[in-house]
Amino acid sequence: MRILVVGGGGREHALCWKIAASPLCDRLWCAPGNAGIEQVADCVAIGVEDLDGIVRFAREHAIDFVVVGPEAPLVAGLVDRLKEAGIAAFGPDAAAARLEGSKSFMKEICDAAGIPTARWQRFADSAAAKSFARTLGLPVVIKADGLAAGKGVIIAETIEDADRAIDDMLVGKAFGAAGAEIVVEEFLDGEEASFFALSDGTHILPLAAAQDHKRAFDGDRGPNTGGMGAYSPTPLVDAAMQQRIVGEIIAPTVRTMAARGTPFRGVLFAGLMIGRHGPKLLEYNVRFGDPECQALMVRLKSDLLPALIACHDGGLDHLDLRWHDATALNVVMAARGYPGAYEKGSEIRGLDRAAQQKNVQIFHAGTQRDGDRILATGGRVLGIVGIGRDAAESQACAYAGVDAIDWPGGFCRRDIGWRAIGAAKT
Ligand code: AMP
Repeated sequence: MRILVVGGGGREHALCWKIAASPLCDRLWCAPGNAGIEQVADCVAIGVEDLDGIVRFAREHAIDFVVVGPEAPLVAGLVDRLKEAGIAAFGPDAAAARLEGSKSFMKEICDAAGIPTARWQRFADSAAAKSFARTLGLPVVIKADGLAAGKGVIIAETIEDADRAIDDMLVGKAFGAAGAEIVVEEFLDGEEASFFALSDGTHILPLAAAQDHKRAFDGDRGPNTGGMGAYSPTPLVDAAMQQRIVGEIIAPTVRTMAARGTPFRGVLFAGLMIGRHGPKLLEYNVRFGDPECQALMVRLKSDLLPALIACHDGGLDHLDLRWHDATALNVVMAARGYPGAYEKGSEIRGLDRAAQQKNVQIFHAGTQRDGDRILATGGRVLGIVGIGRDAAESQACAYAGVDAIDWPGGFCRRDIGWRAIGAAKT
């Protein structure tokens, strides 16, 4: 098969690495890709939001199957456009991608399906939003309805902060059209985890759970980022908890989406708060997580491609995936300054040495080749995945890889996986 992967981050490097190893894959392209993806795929300079360009490329190159990495093209309808052109793709169509594209839509599905989630209401009027916020207690959570690149969620500790967040979104248009409507919801206590499951619209194939670290600095301090590291599995989600997540959250979602005539095909990435009362759904994403995907792909023993194809064709119930009985832990290396302003163009050395470390897999996120040199071009630049028997061993492997890299322009956290390592000790 001739495969095209859309995206250019660490998630897409991990997907390309796995797909390139599939006996079903004859040729692999990636749009736009990066310096790491180049080692396993032909990179083409088409941006992920250039839907016309992607469809044209897929037609001209007789692509059999497109795998869409990021959410923006899914929400914008890339899979619908490819379908019109007769090209099969992995990922939901625009109607099903609303699970990520609209927080209030996702909440309506929760209500219709009886899925446990925070109490909520949707508002376009700030006075009404403020008065509802006062009924929920503190802290209270204010969310822009649409896609806001992970920045549209405010946890307000005081009623003044809640009022300001509501006014910023609804009156000040801080998130533009994405914040023309907002969701005001109850704050949930507990520990966060992610769960990933594939669906063909009818059937579910559970993948695995993961936990990530969103804050920039050690001890989960500092500003929020796209994710500074992740690991899978997590002690927070054992077999019994997985059964509850699938039974109480994933299965009713898939059933309800199908009953509404908008079946979900692709990967459901559930952001969960796990507390005393069991798992509650914080949000859905309709694509793999980055940095979680890198850890999942390293753990996955089976060929990924047939499962992605089954999400499109149906028959996911006939598939079974095998996993390494190990923990994979991904440490993100970012450019100094990230998530604020950072420099581009610094050189990264020592990648070959790092790749030779035992039980280490390196994925590129924001890199570009310049002759023989690899340059950092993004905020999050590399993901160094260690694999080991448990979180402690996989962490040691990942940091051995990190320490072999010579990149003065970069930084990483030194404590990825601390919760899982602590849980194993107690
Ligand atoms: P979301 O994009 O909806 O997942 O929100 C981003 C982050 O905000 C989540 O990963 C949580 O850390 C936090 N968050 C969102 N909603 C809630 C909530 N209702 N209660 C507590 N924390 C929340």
